Amino acid sequence: MEVGFVGLGNMGFPMARRLIERGHDVVAFDTRAAALERVAALGARPAASAREVADRTETVMASLPTPVASLEVATGAAGVIEGARIKRYVDLSTVGGRTARQIFDRLAERHIAAIDSPVSGGVSGAEKGTLAVTVSGPRDEFDVIRTALEAIGRPFYVGDKPGSAQTMKLANNILAANVLAATAEVVVMGVKAGLDPSVMIEVLNAGSGATSASRDKFPRSILPRTFDYGFATGLMVKDVRLYLEEAEALGVPTDVATTIARLWETTADDQGPDSDFTTVIKPLEKAAGVIVGRSPA
Ligand code: NAD
Repeated sequence: MEVGFVGLGNMGFPMARRLIERGHDVVAFDTRAAALERVAALGARPAASAREVADRTETVMASLPTPVASLEVATGAAGVIEGARIKRYVDLSTVGGRTARQIFDRLAERHIAAIDSPVSGGVSGAEKGTLAVTVSGPRDEFDVIRTALEAIGRPFYVGDKPGSAQTMKLANNILAANVLAATAEVVVMGVKAGLDPSVMIEVLNAGSGATSASRDKFPRSILPRTFDYGFATGLMVKDVRLYLEEAEALGVPTDVATTIARLWETTADDQGPDSDFTTVIKPLEKAAGVIVGRSPA
């Protein structure tokens, strides 16, 4: 099918590439010219704005870094809301329920369906097409885009209530944020006590302490000290804040999330929002006076 794609960053580029490889006709836009050139080289047709993408296609997907960017692309003066052909807008970004509902309401005024479709599984999942794609919005619209979503991962339809998929995604991400920070804290403790961090990770992965952090993030980006997993600290802080906002609005306990949030805010201050989120271990190392790395062979 013809698919518009706005936002060709760490996640958007590999998702757009998979759509092209599966034979979809992709019209693309990014504010960064280099990102647009890279996807055009794979066969996408470039556009000059999100609005132009929506002038040229009925289905527009977006993978954007902040709720503000999603609102602008969806409802701004040069956004898809002004497009001539668009029938449905599929937001693959993590924006939280409030922004998803705002976008849904604004686009509904122009008879454009908003499908809320955040993804999980990281850059490697986007490259392999194995993302968990959580979807909420009108069921008939989900049926129209299902095949396209299957190019990027496994779709899970969670209901027609706008924002539900965002709630599910934030539940996933707060857990990922928790286990990365908690695993970093215990590995720093072990190294301070004299344990080899590579051995620690092996033992954790064979036992009941295994987490997505010990399985993927430590071996790939922390032990080799490359800090290149592909998710920015600023994005993790955004997701943690969005989770807290939703949980507080619901009046549910947030003891664990509040503690973890402090660690992520410290990492953003210390390492900068553009740092990779695996640098969450660095402030802990600094405080403990140790470095966690693979011992020389
Ligand atoms: P990114 O910063 O790498 O990419 C965002 C892209 O959007 C950039 O290319 C940027 O130039 C473009 N952009 C920004 N504003 C724009 C605008 N107004 N119009 C057009 N293009 C614009 O971010 P990412 O890591 O790809 O994340 C995108 C979304 O996916 C975020 O909501 C993030 O939370 C979510 N996400 C990321 C990961 C991950 O591992 N990186 C995993 C799951 C979900």
